Amino acid sequence: MIHGLQFPKSASGRRGCSNKGGPTAWTPHPIPIIISGSKKPFESAKSVYACPKCKGSLDNFLCPQCSVAYPVYDGIPCFIPTSSVPDKPDVRQVYDKIYSDHHDVWVDQGRSENFVSYFRELARSHTQNRVLEIGCGEGALLAAISAAKKSGIDPSINALRTARSRSAAQCAVARCEELPYASSSFDLIVTVGVMEHFEDPDAAAREICRVLAESGHYIALFQTDLSTPQRILLKFRQYVFPTLRPIAFARWIRKKLHNPIVQPFRKSYTIESARECIERSGLRITEVITRSTHPSAPLAGPHVVIFVAHKLPRGPGQQYWER
Ligand SMILES: [Zn+2]
Repeated sequence: MIHGLQFPKSASGRRGCSNKGGPTAWTPHPIPIIISGSKKPFESAKSVYACPKCKGSLDNFLCPQCSVAYPVYDGIPCFIPTSSVPDKPDVRQVYDKIYSDHHDVWVDQGRSENFVSYFRELARSHTQNRVLEIGCGEGALLAAISAAKKSGIDPSINALRTARSRSAAQCAVARCEELPYASSSFDLIVTVGVMEHFEDPDAAAREICRVLAESGHYIALFQTDLSTPQRILLKFRQYVFPTLRPIAFARWIRKKLHNPIVQPFRKSYTIESARECIERSGLRITEVITRSTHPSAPLAGPHVVIFVAHKLPRGPGQQYWER
């Protein structure tokens, strides 16, 4: 079923949302809504989402305030418009290609079965209610997490199709810098190795804080920077000593040479700068997990850190990032 929708120009005379993000902001276009498959789960999904720009309610994925219709493909709404800015990477295309070229993309980058089990228990200890994974990819972690309501976003619709079938989560193509949810929608938000790849980490952290319920938790895994000798040592320990893994090593080399994974954005972090990024948004870190603090944690190396943060109550009229 295809609905072709046309909308009047906005008050500024342009179609689509107002462009407040400066010259690099993307321009959304009214696009036909495409719906296929059973309508029932799709109908229930409508109420989950808000306009990523103005945060207002959506009417059948149309934002009346912005005069923008967000397209829906196979029941997965898409809140990232195609980039219309030359030289700006189209994140949807980049990540769709990564997930087309590779299967279980992140398993050899730390998302092992042991790690997923460990992270599932960590998440379970903070809530089993409303959970959102940002950058959920193909949903390996989302499928493992126990929660009454699970949601996942990712730039790649290819990955989300797999994630939805694995996890039964509500999935959407979206950016963390503009989350398509109303404020206080989740009790727990998780990100694993994705904050390093946001275009604007501070905007992303503010959005995470906004959509978390008061006293909600954010669990974030960062990969901090390694020097070249540290990187070589890490690979030596992964593939040579104490366990020689020639097949895994050959697979890793093949991936490096053939269709290497190159993500559009890469921010460098130390443990301190990652902590500051999270806390600037108004969240407070209550636990830091590394190989040093938790030797039994199945982390890919000493450069990997997990922060557990929680959302503090806000003062009257105070924004979370105004602390
Ligand atoms: Zn809107």
